[in-house]
Amino acid sequence: MKYRVLGILLVAALVCFAVGGCATLDKPVIKEWTKMEPNEKGEMKEVQYMTIDGVMVHETDPALQPPAPVVTPGIESTQKPGSAPSDAVVLFDGKDLSNWTSTSGEPTKWIITDGALSPTPKSGMIQSKQEFGSCQLHVEFATPKQVKGESQGRGNSGVFLMGIYEIQVLDSYENATYPDGQCAALYGRAKPLANACRKPGEWQTYDVIFHRPIFENGQVVKRATFTVLHNGVVVQDHTELTGGTDWRGGHAISNYEPHADKGPIRFQDHGNPVLFRNVWVRELQD
Ligand code: MG
Repeated sequence: MKYRVLGILLVAALVCFAVGGCATLDKPVIKEWTKMEPNEKGEMKEVQYMTIDGVMVHETDPALQPPAPVVTPGIESTQKPGSAPSDAVVLFDGKDLSNWTSTSGEPTKWIITDGALSPTPKSGMIQSKQEFGSCQLHVEFATPKQVKGESQGRGNSGVFLMGIYEIQVLDSYENATYPDGQCAALYGRAKPLANACRKPGEWQTYDVIFHRPIFENGQVVKRATFTVLHNGVVVQDHTELTGGTDWRGGHAISNYEPHADKGPIRFQDHGNPVLFRNVWVRELQD
């Protein structure tokens, strides 16, 4: 009897495999062939050739395989990690608010102090004038040195991609809260892989690789993904965002809603004077 059940399970697994009902990978088109060619001694030898999606492996013709564009890393990158590379859109370099507005398009009430951006009471979110879809984002932040409040009330802000999807900013240094709302969480959706917080008042970095969600006919057909390094530590590893990050009461979070292909970078005013500096973006292909 036992063997009969095992046999049925084996047949079911084979059928699943045969009809392709199991997970499949996106395959590149690979072609392979061989050719007789003389080697350096003039002897005829069989040489293997292979193309991946039409491009020959180790192709040197720039018309067939263009080299990657030259990007100069931040000039002082060895002294100042995180300085903007040559092709970045610098949104905030500590000097002015020219690239920013309130969410209604009015001048923002956020202020600059000692080269850092921070909200004033009831100033609301700040957003970049330029909009982005898939991108690489660098931002530095510091939660207040003077520790006040606890859980979600301590050093709360947020970095929003496309104005919608929040990477939580919180003082999670010796401050317990729900894990999917701690610093570097995709709020309500994915806790970070590690708590890499520095102490209150110390500057911290987020380096984010974001791929936007894609919608067709009102439905998400490709979910957003986030890779996030917090102070150089991987905290989101190509995390697929399963939906929105809007608070919907204590135990619910928003779903995906179709939106435009680009949106602003936003920082949250959550009533805590969190500082931001050195904000730059590089646009990426979807
Ligand atoms: Mg927040």
